[in-house]
This record gives sequence, C-alpha cells and structure tokens, in this order.
Amino acid sequence: MRLALRWCRLCRPQRGGGRGGGNKPWMNGKLLALWSYTKLLLKSLYYNSLNNSDTLLDCVFEPIYWIVDNVTRWFGVVFVCLVTLLTTSVVVIVYLFILPTIISTYPAHWVVWHLCCGHWLLIMVVFHYYKATTTPPGHPPKDNIHIPSVSICKKCITPKPPRTHHCSICNVCVLKMDHHCPWLNNCVGHFNHRYFFSFCLYMTLGCIYCSISSRDLFLEAYGAIEVRHLRQIFPSPQSYYQTPSPDYSFKETTAHKSVIFLWVLTSSVAVALGGLTLWHAILISRGETSVERHINRKETIRLKEKGKVFRNPYHRGKVNNWKLLFGVEKRSHWITQVLLPSSHLPMGDGIMWDCTFTRRDPMAI
Ligand SMILES: [Zn+2]
Ligand SMILES: [Zn+2]
Repeated sequence: MRLALRWCRLCRPQRGGGRGGGNKPWMNGKLLALWSYTKLLLKSLYYNSLNNSDTLLDCVFEPIYWIVDNVTRWFGVVFVCLVTLLTTSVVVIVYLFILPTIISTYPAHWVVWHLCCGHWLLIMVVFHYYKATTTPPGHPPKDNIHIPSVSICKKCITPKPPRTHHCSICNVCVLKMDHHCPWLNNCVGHFNHRYFFSFCLYMTLGCIYCSISSRDLFLEAYGAIEVRHLRQIFPSPQSYYQTPSPDYSFKETTAHKSVIFLWVLTSSVAVALGGLTLWHAILISRGETSVERHINRKETIRLKEKGKVFRNPYHRGKVNNWKLLFGVEKRSHWITQVLLPSSHLPMGDGIMWDCTFTRRDPMAI
C-alpha cells in the first residue's frame, strides 16, 4: 500500500510545475491526478503478481477456446455416428458384393483364409472401438488428497498426479492423458490407451485388407462406370467403340458404385489412419504420450541450453514400453491379450509411476 501511494505521488503532476511553471493550469493537474488514482484503483481490482503474457493471451482467447471446446464436444457425437455408419456400410458392401465373388471364384483354401482374416479383423475393430468409447480414461480421486502429485489443477482444484493433465473438453483431469479424441468422443488416458491404439491398428489393417481384396473388383467397376459415362457422351457405340458395350442392370450399377465407394473409402482411411497409428507407435516406443511429446521437446531445448541432456523418466526401453501398454506379463499374452479381444486392466493405477532413475533433478543427467 505504501508503495502504491508513493507511486501515485510520483505520477501526480506537480502543482504549477514548480516556481517557473506558472503557465500550467491547476485544473489540468487535478484531472491528471484523478486519472492516476482511477488507474490505480482499476489495477488494484485485478492485479496478480503471477500475471504474464501467457495469462493475458489465455484470457483474450478464452471465448474462442470455449466455442472450440463446445463444438468439439458436440461434434464428438456426430463423429462417433459417422464412424459407426461408415464401418457398417463397408461391412454391408463386403457381405453383399465382395464375399460372394471371393466364394464363387477363389479356391477353397483362399476362401477359408478370407473368411477367417476378414472376420477376425471385424471382431477386433468392433471390440476395440466399443471399449475405447465406453471405457473411462481414469481420473484422479477427488476425495483422497494424499496421493503423489506434481501440481494442483487450477480448474478442478485437486492434486494432479504425474502424467495427469486437464481436458478442457471433458472438463476433468485425466490420468496419463494422451489426447481428447473426437472420433471416440472420449479422452484417451491410462485405462483406454490400449483400446485406442488397438482400434487404430486393426482399423488400418482392416482397411488395407478391404482395399487389397476389392482391388480387382474396383478396377472392373471403374471400367464399367467409365464405359457407361462415355456411352452417355457418345450415344452411338460405333462412334467410339467398334463393338457395342453391354447394358448394365440397376443391380450391377449399384454393385459397381458400391465397390468404388468401398475402395476409395478404405484406401483413404488406410493412408490417413495408418500415418496416425505409426505416429502413436513411435510415441509408445519412446514412452511418451502426445501431451508429453510437446513438454519433453521444450524441456530438451531448455536443458540443451544449459549443457544438459534430457531423459524421459517414463521410458523403460522399447519392448518394455509395449509390454506396459498391452499389459503383457508372459509370452502367451501376446496372443491372448493383443491378437485376441481382451478387457484386462493396464498395469498400475495411473497415479503412482516408477521412474527409471532418481536424481536431484530427475529430468537431467
Ligand atoms: Zn483438472
Ligand atoms: Zn477429454
């Protein structure tokens, strides 16, 4: 308070500007003093020693964040419906047009292989998508404040265990938060990270399988559609072709269009989701989540400037990181818990984390 008063006194213009300042009107000085007092009063209402440019930017962009969060929350439901609808349409097209062709034209052993592989991928995709959307990612306990924590969440006003971050869309703290996924309408965290990754992996494999299996039918359908289109431009077959092209029935035209839709959709998803899956596989190998990737990168630069090397305390070695994610404790688990549907819980509670080393500064060596 004493400092504030001194500041005011300094800011207050001197009456008359001293002996030689007789030209300055007294009213002007009084108005300036009043303005200084008003500014101080306003500043005292919202002054915070922790204010910085980041806080100011956060405040300015708060309405935009609010809109984005709400739109994402609302779009989450639409995205889940879209994934369900598109996956169902692909499965229906495969059952109606691809499988009958495979059964009627392929040798018996190839038919068996297609039936087994196709259905295995379908079961894995449906199981992991259902589990990823319905399994809560895990939240820190609100009633127990005696948990290992690294900070306090400013939004939830609860202790934040290591690797926990606040999701502004779900408006809750999430254990080992990876990201908020609008395609799942759920946060990806400690308890559903495995389901999320397995869904991405099996969906990519399923799309690659469909794309390869329907390639010949796609080329045939594309050729047929092209011929039909050219015939509309050149009505007389002789004007373009030496021999007349066959007339396609409504069922055949529908089949052609469905196969083209299937191939374009599955190929596009295979490329896009394949890239995302690969990125998450790299992160898992490094023992990082998507959030930690940004934090660790900043920390690496900060420590490099100090001549130190950053080491991720949650990196347990590539194979061990994968074992931790899939909850693999013995060799048979790779088959029963990774290649087959399994709803086992991940290792650990997501609150306590073993670090690979303990030093005064755990981030640096
Ligand atoms: Zn929180
Ligand atoms: Zn969320």
